[in-house]
Order: sequence, then structure tokens, then C-alpha cells
Amino acid sequence: AAKQRQSGSQLYSPSLDAGSQESLSLLGELRRAVEGGQLRLFLQPKVDLRSGQVISAEALVRWEHPQRGLVPPMQFIPFAEQTGFIRQLSAWVVAASARAWRQARERGQVLRISVNLSTRDLMDQDLPLKIRAAIEAEGVPPSALCLEITESAIMDDPARALSTLEQLSAMGFKLSIDDFGTGYSSLAYLKRLPVDELKIDKSFVMAMERDLDDAKIVRSTVELAHNLGLSVVAEGLETLRAWQILARLGCDEGQGYFISKPMPEAQFVDWLEQWKP
Ligand code: C2E
Ligand code: CA
Ligand code: CA
Ligand code: CA
Repeated sequence: AAKQRQSGSQLYSPSLDAGSQESLSLLGELRRAVEGGQLRLFLQPKVDLRSGQVISAEALVRWEHPQRGLVPPMQFIPFAEQTGFIRQLSAWVVAASARAWRQARERGQVLRISVNLSTRDLMDQDLPLKIRAAIEAEGVPPSALCLEITESAIMDDPARALSTLEQLSAMGFKLSIDDFGTGYSSLAYLKRLPVDELKIDKSFVMAMERDLDDAKIVRSTVELAHNLGLSVVAEGLETLRAWQILARLGCDEGQGYFISKPMPEAQFVDWLEQWKP
């Protein structure tokens, strides 16, 4: 583990034994990061592919580490999931997203903000009440938030996930299936989930211009979503051509570097005011 720790990309490797000394010190570091204000909320816009209007933004967390600089989520989220610390982290992201929503509204921009949840969050029976209390404290209605959940997080314990998702949906939160196509959810199950949106994984979107199979997967996902009455978002939209293809396929929304990379929340409203499709 000591060796892994030196190689940058493995810093907070999920393969670390959760009970080890090193793991405990990483956990301490993460806890101090949350309590000491080292987490940063980044926002990435999602646009309506027909009008080009920005209708929502995804909240993506980064850790501004005093020595290591800006640490990307893949270097600490898996570790946080493994240790259960993700619940505190998600609570921070929800509260920060609610504040960002309110600040945008104060400047005349009404958007929906998407927040990523993990398996551990879904297994927490009190999650719906906790999230609702946290955003209502900021004066934000549940319908302003969309919760993104991966297929694998749902399939971990489908019955329990379904019960949490039903509560969230009844409260008015929007729900989205993230990374669609990469997990193992059965279509029969999908039909029963109270979701509003499917998000096509970026691996298919980024490859669809050169690989016919990926293009077919994107096309059939758009059809499937629409047949089930769901809206569909493509992530990994990196080129104008991808935008055109997706629009022609009837995909509703897009998110990706062609529109903007995720940016610090403080820049977001300024970016929004200058955005011209
Ligand atoms: P994700 O939920 O699938 O988020 C989309 C990722 O794709 C983000 O990476 C985003 O920066 C990246 N992306 C967006 N557009 C493009 C594009 O056009 N091209 C390419 N190559 N990439 C694009 P990021 O921010 O590094 O986040 C990685 C993952 O970390 C997320 O994947 C999500 O699973 C997790 N994550 C991030 N923030 C949170 C959080 O607050 N809570 C939880 N539970 N997970 C988070
Ligand atoms: Ca996501
Ligand atoms: Ca995704
Ligand atoms: Ca992903």
C-alpha cells in the first residue's frame, strides 16, 4: 500500500484494506477536508440539444488538498464509498448544491442541479428525509434537485434501492440513471423504477462518431428512454458533430467539454450569462 500511495493516481486507492493504519489516516484526512472546508463544488452545464439553452448543471466535487492541489473525485470517492464516509461527503455536496441553486436564482437563473449519489447513500433509510431537510433549510424545493444514481448502485440491493427511490420521487426529487449501458440493470427492473431520466454513458457518446456499434447503442438508448417516457441525456459531448448527431437522434440533453468543462461554482453564473448556443 505504501508504494501505491506514491503513485499519484492510486493515492486513495479503494484496494486499501479499510482497517489498516494507512486507511485510517486517509479517513482522518478526508474528514478534515470536509470539516476544514477543503472540498470544492464544480458545476458542469447540461443543455437542451434543440434550443441550446442551459437547463441544468451537474455538481461534481473536487478536493483542494493543501499539499497535493486539486484532487479529482476518482481518487477519493471510491475510498469514501468503501469506508462509508461517502454519506458525510454526499451531505456536503447536497448542501453546497442547494446554496449554488439559491445563488443562481438570486441572479435570475433558475436551473436544476444534479447530484451524484452512491450505493451507501441509497442504503441509508433516512436519506430522503435528511436531504429534504438540508435543502429546505436553504429554501430550495426538491424539484430543483435531480439525483443521479448508477445502475450498479441500484442492483446492489434492488429492493432497498427501490424503496429509497420511491420515497425520494414522492417528495418531488427528480431521479436519473447515470452511466446507463455500463451496468447490469434488467429492463424489467428499469420499468419499475420511478426515474425521470437516463444518462447515456460517455464511453458510447465519445465513440459513436467512429464506431457504428456505439452509434447503434446511443440510438437504441434514446428510443428505449422515450418509449418508457423518460428524457435522455448524453454525456461526453465533445464535438459539434456529436451535438448534431445526438439532436438528429432525438436525444433531449447534452453535457460535455464541447459545451464546457466542469467549473468552480463561483464562475458558473458568469459563464451562464455569456453562453450563446
Ligand atoms: P460521472 O457522474 O459519470 O460524471 C461525469 C464525469 O465525466 C465527470 O468527471 C466529468 O468531468 C466528465 N466529463 C464531462 N464531460 C466530459 C467530456 O466531454 N469528455 C470527457 N472525457 N469527460 C467528461 P469527474 O468530475 O472527474 O467525476 C468522475 C466521477 O466521480 C463521476 O462520474 C462520479 O461518478 C464521481 N463523482 C464526482 N463528484 C461526485 C459527488 O459529488 N458524489 C459522488 N458520489 N460521486 C461523484
Ligand atoms: Ca453523474
Ligand atoms: Ca455518468
Ligand atoms: Ca461515470
